[in-house]
Amino acid sequence: MTQILNGKELAAQIKDEIANRVRHFTMEGQRPPHLAAILVGDDGASQTYVANKEKSSKEVGFISSVYRFPATTTEAELMESIEFLNNDDEVDGFIVQLPLPKHIDERRVINAINPNKDVDGFSPINIGRMVLGEEAFLPATPKGIVTLLQRYGIETEGKHCVVVGRSNIVGTPMANLMSRKALNSTVTLCHSKTADLPSITRQADILIVAIGKPEFVTADMVKEGAVVVDVGIHRIADSTKKNGFRLLGDVKHGEVDAKCSWVTPVPGGVGPLTIVSLLENTFDAYLRSKNLKK
Ligand code: NDP
Repeated sequence: MTQILNGKELAAQIKDEIANRVRHFTMEGQRPPHLAAILVGDDGASQTYVANKEKSSKEVGFISSVYRFPATTTEAELMESIEFLNNDDEVDGFIVQLPLPKHIDERRVINAINPNKDVDGFSPINIGRMVLGEEAFLPATPKGIVTLLQRYGIETEGKHCVVVGRSNIVGTPMANLMSRKALNSTVTLCHSKTADLPSITRQADILIVAIGKPEFVTADMVKEGAVVVDVGIHRIADSTKKNGFRLLGDVKHGEVDAKCSWVTPVPGGVGPLTIVSLLENTFDAYLRSKNLKK
């Protein structure tokens, strides 16, 4: 029987745990953790993501601040505010919401973030630390997926994990984490140039899909009994829905779910854990900056 990896429920539980820990420190007279976000331009999806992060931060008792800049902001102006946040002792961690307008070099901006405040885990220092197995801020989505698998007690050791998609923020770090000693999977990382993708995905005990194509993975690509994690999220216009759209993943759930032992729904699977991971990273940054114990 197929079981659901319920990210929404787990995220609520972890948020409660974080909120209790925050309360513990504030009752001792410490200031709460502080997560800041920089948002450049008026991209609708980015605004929604930042609003969700702000809301979740407040729910767990963090201070949340959002620095909004117009799309015409120059790279130099953005760098100035990064420098300000890098040096602000009242801010434990901050994120720069991507994508940035085309005239700004994203890599240069990310590289400028103080690695000790880089709670998105996108800076080369944090990625390097992750690959070396050192303490690091892990990128939020892969970290959230690891949390989901571990909290649901999914066996990963010795399993064949196939990751589809090799982006810097999802697929590549995901493959790395699954192959590490804590998880001990044997990993295959696939991408758009992979030959005969279905023959590889069909070998997966754990299939993690992050390709950004609605309902790309069909039942014939999945082994009976596989654990399937769907990272994709797509808004598809749907006039029958009250809000005018429905959400689809990268997996065709209508036909795939019946073959899975465990599967993440869309929405309510990976997404809620992504935000929780950001909160966890911020809380860790807070503990570190204030020399508090975990
Ligand atoms: P990217 O577009 O950065 O990367 C997509 C990857 O998929 C690339 O590596 C690409 O290969 C690969 N790919 C594309 N087409 C194929 C194909 N036909 N066969 C095999 N591989 C293919 O996407 P992201 O990793 O940023 O995001 C993936 C999805 O996850 C999106 O839908 C995004 O919205 C969602 N997402 C959801 C999050 C959440 O919290 N739920 C967080 C982040 C992302 P190549 O490298 O060769 O081009």
